[in-house]
Amino acid sequence: MKRKSIFLLCCLLVAGMAMAQVGTKVIAHRGYWKTEGSAQNSIRSLERASEIGAYGSELDVHLTADNVLVVFHDNTIQGKTIQASAYDELKDLKLANGEPIPTLEQYLRRARKLKNIRLILELKAHETPERNREAAQAVVKLVKRMRLAKRTDYISFNLDACKEFIRLCPKSEVSYLNGELSPMELKELGFAGLDYHYDVLKSRPEWIQDCKAIGLTVNVWTVNEPEKMREMVERGVDFITTDLPEQAEAIIREQAR
Ligand code: MG
Repeated sequence: MKRKSIFLLCCLLVAGMAMAQVGTKVIAHRGYWKTEGSAQNSIRSLERASEIGAYGSELDVHLTADNVLVVFHDNTIQGKTIQASAYDELKDLKLANGEPIPTLEQYLRRARKLKNIRLILELKAHETPERNREAAQAVVKLVKRMRLAKRTDYISFNLDACKEFIRLCPKSEVSYLNGELSPMELKELGFAGLDYHYDVLKSRPEWIQDCKAIGLTVNVWTVNEPEKMREMVERGVDFITTDLPEQAEAIIREQAR
């Protein structure tokens, strides 16, 4: 083959690879927990998300009363309010799969070894604006110490927490969950994208295009029905957050044909 043809072939291959990365990507909501031996926000759920090749794994984080970051969704675990408890009171409590409730440090230590997966870290709302900022500061400090800053995106329903993430790490992707701010309002606040409930994007589909026009990413949660997955892929969202990551991957492959 002549040199010029080889060069053209290489160009086509590179262009093809770039195009292949354009489609919708899948984020496992609270890890991939709907599998045997897993549980929401467990370290096993992170490993499972990595094993199936999910683009990202979402996790929920609280700051305890004595300033330990723990990974769990609800405000309470077995009758104890996480943010009002000392870590010592929580550390022996078990998740549904028998793992102890993980600290964020334990979770990140495992994530470091799983090099193919991004972390979509949701900071849960805390009681006061000050406490939200303190929690965001503690998260960023730990993520940096664990050398995972380039692999971690931040999300929150709480605007104070989001603003603190944007202030502390302007190079990281911070997205807002609450649904009431328009793409332009988010852009002005320094967000990288929105991460809204399916119903929000269903009622305001123009926001998807608005985001693209101004360079914001679009993530939609928590989409578990195949029809809704197809609809969101067709509308060109960047990310689908789902409890069923393998089904979402199959639908994306099917749509790409
Ligand atoms: Mg969450």
